[in-house]
Amino acid sequence: MAEVALNKDGEFSVASEFEPQEWEMMKNKYRIGDFLMPCCKAPAILKTSPNGLPFFSHYSDECASAP
Ligand SMILES: [Zn+2]
Repeated sequence: MAEVALNKDGEFSVASEFEPQEWEMMKNKYRIGDFLMPCCKAPAILKTSPNGLPFFSHYSDECASAP
């Protein structure tokens, strides 16, 4: 899991900087490939932890370079 991902413009998106409602809206409309993991450029998916914190995760398996 990661707090930061690259968006379609190649800029960093920081999960914790999104409002919870904004995050949920994005979760509903993003497509696989809209966000990329900064570690390996693999597609990222948007997730919310059980305690409500937004984060990015690898679409497929964690890569070896993930922190
Ligand atoms: Zn990775």
